[in-house]
Amino acid sequence: MKHQSYDIVIVGCGMAGLAAGLRATELGQSVAILEKSPEEHRGGHTRFTESFRIPTADIDDDTEFNVEDYTASDFYSDIMAVTNYNADPDLAKRVANGASETFEWLRGHGIDWEYRAPHPGYTAGRVWLDGEEFVSELVSHLSDRKATIHYKAEARSLCRDDGGAVTGVEARVAGERTRFDADAVILAAGDYGSSKEKRTRYYGPGYGKMKVRGSRYNTGEAIDAALELGAKADGEWGDAHMALIDAGSPDVEGGITRIDGYQYGVIVNHDGERFVDEGQDSRAHTYAKFGRRIFEQPYHEAFIIVDSKTVDDVAHMGPSNPITGDSIESLANRLGIENVERTVETVEAYNAACDPGEYDPDVLDGNSATTVEPPKSNWALPLDEPPFTGYPVTGGMTFAFGGVAITPDAAVLDTQDDSIPGLYAAGNATGGLFYDNYPGGTGLTNAAVFGKIAAESAVSAIEAGQ
Ligand SMILES: Cc1cc2nc3c(=O)[nH]c(=O)nc-3n(C[C@H](O)[C@H](O)[C@H](O)COP(=O)(O)OP(=O)(O)OC[C@H]3O[C@@H](n4cnc5c(N)ncnc54)[C@H](O)[C@@H]3O)c2cc1C
Repeated sequence: MKHQSYDIVIVGCGMAGLAAGLRATELGQSVAILEKSPEEHRGGHTRFTESFRIPTADIDDDTEFNVEDYTASDFYSDIMAVTNYNADPDLAKRVANGASETFEWLRGHGIDWEYRAPHPGYTAGRVWLDGEEFVSELVSHLSDRKATIHYKAEARSLCRDDGGAVTGVEARVAGERTRFDADAVILAAGDYGSSKEKRTRYYGPGYGKMKVRGSRYNTGEAIDAALELGAKADGEWGDAHMALIDAGSPDVEGGITRIDGYQYGVIVNHDGERFVDEGQDSRAHTYAKFGRRIFEQPYHEAFIIVDSKTVDDVAHMGPSNPITGDSIESLANRLGIENVERTVETVEAYNAACDPGEYDPDVLDGNSATTVEPPKSNWALPLDEPPFTGYPVTGGMTFAFGGVAITPDAAVLDTQDDSIPGLYAAGNATGGLFYDNYPGGTGLTNAAVFGKIAAESAVSAIEAGQ
């Protein structure tokens, strides 16, 4: 077996691994990043991302943000509320409180964010990016430092000394076994949701068929290696971010193929039935849980229907063409909905329950339809102005919610709740933050904040000789 030696070995080259690598090299450490994919597929799910949630109110300069007054406390409250208060409060606080500092740190490294002026429909502060360019920028920063990225390098097991400290990683590098010795290992290998076997194991029969929006390489073997070593599993292993996406999306690595604006219309299944409160909350707080509800419908498919009043408020990012019809019946026929008659009845019953005041797509406008089942809490406008437009949608696997347990300092815990010396983790490889649902734009922030913290904790321990 080949041997290589570095101060710190990082497993994974997405946001968490790159942030950890940047910080560790900044603190003078030699770093190896092991990336399972070939170079052209590097960047994990991070490659497919578009926005980063930050408390804009804490950033004291002239930048014009989409929302100016979003505080760390708002961010914390959103994480807690959206996860039904299941998120670990200490991890949630660390993300919310560390977000603006981490953003400033990345900005200090010349990261090219896009700022959008006040933006319709958003209640949280964000900056935008092109995931692929973002990964390239961070990789090029690392290449100027004491960091080596090994592609086609799949971590398969972790090495430990007799005292229990993690001392390195065994990997297959382009098919050859290599041992990477290190004073600390940072697990930043993303989630396991791209594995058909694990989706079936954790979500149930049929989930193997779900479309994977992100990287095909996030299949969780590095998480398995940490669990094998004695790391504690944490988080909601039975749930995931499953987004509402265009039903014509590619089976894997489709990226951003969402259809936003469903909240202004209705969603029906092949039986012609509604099954969610489309207007329950803002899009960023429902899209990640509605995908699963849609996937559970017949043929894993459903249909957004809007009329001419709101069609311009729909943001259609998927590959399929929208379908139109002069009546609900003709639209349902064209969409291929199995029960056309019931679809017409459902829309009629929904229309009868609507009694709207002024429509405002940018806030929870309180226009509700409460006498239908399920009720609709906001934006309940009757579908009565043709042409009608329909979009076939399905649920798309974004990332899994289970992972290894960490402390707020990113140290990995064992099954007796003691830190495992020399082992740290960040990003989607960890559990404990997301349950039931997900506040849009938080995955990247979580990965960046904890990637940076993991590097700082590892370096402190190395310097203290622990
Ligand atoms: C289509 C899509 C859009 C998204 N949009 C957003 C958004 O706009 N904003 C947001 O905040 N979040 C978004 N997310 C979620 C976000 O991508 C993740 O939360 C975040 O990127 C996680 O970063 P990470 O570094 O933990 O994992 P990843 O970026 O997935 O990186 C993990 C890396 O580890 C590598 N790896 C896996 N196993 C091994 C192994 N055994 N050995 C070596 N390497 C390994 C993988 O190949 C991968 O490169 C989106 C996700 C998807 C799929």
